[in-house]
Amino acid sequence: MARTHISGFPRIGAHRELKFAQESFWRGESDDTYLRSVGKALRARHWELQRAAGLDFVAVGDFAWYDPMLNLTALLGALPQRFGFEPATLSLAQYHELARGNAAQSALEMTKWFDTNYHYLVPELDAETTFDGGVDWFFDEIDEALALGLTVKPVLIGPITYLWLSKSRAAGFDRLSLLPKLVVRYLRILDKLKARGVEWVQLDEPALCLDLDAEWLEAFSGVYNVLCDEGVNVLLATYFGTVADHASRVAGLPVHGVHIDLVRAPQQLHAWHSALPADKVLSVGVIDGRNVWRADLGEIAGSLERLHTQRGESLWIAPSCSLVHVPVTLAAERRLDAELKSWLAFATEKLTELSTLAQALRDPAAAEPALAAADAALGSRRASGAVFNVLVQRRVAAVTDAMASRRSPFAERSRVQRHSLKLPLLPTTTIGSFPQTPAIRQARAAYRRGDLRALDYLERMRAETATVVRKQEALGLDVLVHGEVERNDMVEFFADKLWGYAFTENGWVQNYGSQCVKPPIIYGDIYRPEPMIVDAACHAQSLTERLVKGVLTGPVTMLEWSFVRDDQPRSTTALQLALVIRDEVLDLEKAGIRIIQIDESAFREGLPLRQADWPAYLDWATRAFRISASGVCDATQIHTHMCYSEFNDILPSIAALDADVITIETSRSSMELLDGFGEFAYPNGIGPGVYDTHSSRVPSVDAMRRLLERACEVIPAERLWVNPDCGLKTRAWPETEAALTNMVLAAGALRQKLATQADAERQ
Ligand code: GLN
Ligand code: ZN
Repeated sequence: MARTHISGFPRIGAHRELKFAQESFWRGESDDTYLRSVGKALRARHWELQRAAGLDFVAVGDFAWYDPMLNLTALLGALPQRFGFEPATLSLAQYHELARGNAAQSALEMTKWFDTNYHYLVPELDAETTFDGGVDWFFDEIDEALALGLTVKPVLIGPITYLWLSKSRAAGFDRLSLLPKLVVRYLRILDKLKARGVEWVQLDEPALCLDLDAEWLEAFSGVYNVLCDEGVNVLLATYFGTVADHASRVAGLPVHGVHIDLVRAPQQLHAWHSALPADKVLSVGVIDGRNVWRADLGEIAGSLERLHTQRGESLWIAPSCSLVHVPVTLAAERRLDAELKSWLAFATEKLTELSTLAQALRDPAAAEPALAAADAALGSRRASGAVFNVLVQRRVAAVTDAMASRRSPFAERSRVQRHSLKLPLLPTTTIGSFPQTPAIRQARAAYRRGDLRALDYLERMRAETATVVRKQEALGLDVLVHGEVERNDMVEFFADKLWGYAFTENGWVQNYGSQCVKPPIIYGDIYRPEPMIVDAACHAQSLTERLVKGVLTGPVTMLEWSFVRDDQPRSTTALQLALVIRDEVLDLEKAGIRIIQIDESAFREGLPLRQADWPAYLDWATRAFRISASGVCDATQIHTHMCYSEFNDILPSIAALDADVITIETSRSSMELLDGFGEFAYPNGIGPGVYDTHSSRVPSVDAMRRLLERACEVIPAERLWVNPDCGLKTRAWPETEAALTNMVLAAGALRQKLATQADAERQ
């Protein structure tokens, strides 16, 4: 019979129990016994869900206190020596210090897990790294599940992916040189699994979906030639993309089975079915682990039938990847529209989908009612008037290439803007948000609860805006913002004002550590019933003689940070978002706002894992941005903002956005990043961030002036702007005012120096 299994279940709990337990542990309000008991209860609950759904295995090893990569680091004993912790006796408190830093040491670096919004903790390796004496938590959890009488399939990140995602402490250190030691450690882990009677272990190697060079591929083969001989069957798991080009390499290894992601890369099935001998397990990931839609079970069952006839018992069925990327359960949603709810499947519901598929292969008649229900839900979604909006369809059909281009080229626009905006050299500005004070948060919460009337809430927000405007004037900033006081989240705020978006009550997804996000769901055509921020921007502008910049979230970022409908290409949804933002931009222009910033914080996140797929993405993403930005006349200045620093490989696309000004994060790399912009001869305006807004440190005037001088070496001063790295929402006022005061002084000092130089040259 086709066996069913998952790669992982969300560990946070349906009501974020783990988050709250962790945070109380950090605050010292509870001890590690309590935290451990919460973890244990969550694991038991999640295993029970898998068992009750009739899955053939429960996944163990998907639980982590903060992050699975960190748990693996703790298991391997590969702790960074700078902390001075003893690997064998690592306490929960110390574990969390690795994740969050302590008085003496900064935390491990955090970065995005492949192309998801989940962030893992990056292992730090060097020649001294050993893989001895780690903690036994992984084995304890296996014992816990065995004691409950469950059939266990432990899941671990594989050695190649672990090394690939690590970073070298010293430049030039070759991480692969650690592989022999690391493999020995994995062998010992497998021995311990065997001793426990474990039949199958899953080793996750999603790194295989990236562009790996020959050296890493060779290393990969070497490792699995060794690991598969320990008496435990190895299921090699890949996800997030295709691995078809490695099918014959993998099939030639002694691995006992392979898991592939058929949601992201359905076309790879053929290659694997023909390459993989029939006695090896082929685990097909057919339920989408990255999105919230109910699967087309009838269609999937139909396509699996033949495969099942041919492969029999060696066919396994699973979600495409770990379910950690979707919310826990629909049962926690009481306010979601009933029709929409019937179209969705969160992690718990996906377990049921999986067992229905297995049943459809085993006993089609018995599966009939469940398949019919799935079919009915899908039919209602396809036919629903809530999904399709003729007004939107008409707009999309009428989009022309001309709409994706500004009227004049940058040189001409910038001449017009210089005349009309009359900004000084090196204009100073901020990225949009100012500190979200407790008063602001309390007012928002009261408004949500219904304890504050709409008008009172509006008045409060207007008063906050007035404060923010006055403070910016006092600081001497040149281009002001309204401060985003009323914005809880830069995507949710806009999504809430658009049709086609829905919101959950408890649809939390772990972002990192105890941090969860609740991505809104795009279920239908995107329509803007009325202007979204025109009122707020105009109010701010009415309070000052200086220019106020209107700040909006761009189409690609709206898309990246939402759950996106899967019944049309992402590019089409991006285009719909682009059109509503374009309308908003035009309304802002009409209302007299002359500088408009369209944030594309997540533009780079959308890049596909394989470089070969980049051009297609960059093409539609760039076009979506251009459509949102290009309706305005030459005199209106368009800014964009991106908050990260690896740009060099996509600079042509950044330039192709043709924003008049782009503000980016650069302070942490001390402007190194700008070199790329210089070499590429980036043509438009740039505001390289001169201080890090993720930290409360206040940099000195001199430090910021030096950064600006470096920037001047690469970008002509006429095209330079002066601003922080990112928004100031999470900062407090005192440090914000201190840092901005210094920033304004730094810009002034440099302005003066440049003016003196220009004078000298003239004489
Ligand atoms: N305008 C947003 C802000 O200032 C941008 C945030 C971001 O880039 N993440 O908060
Ligand atoms: Zn940012």
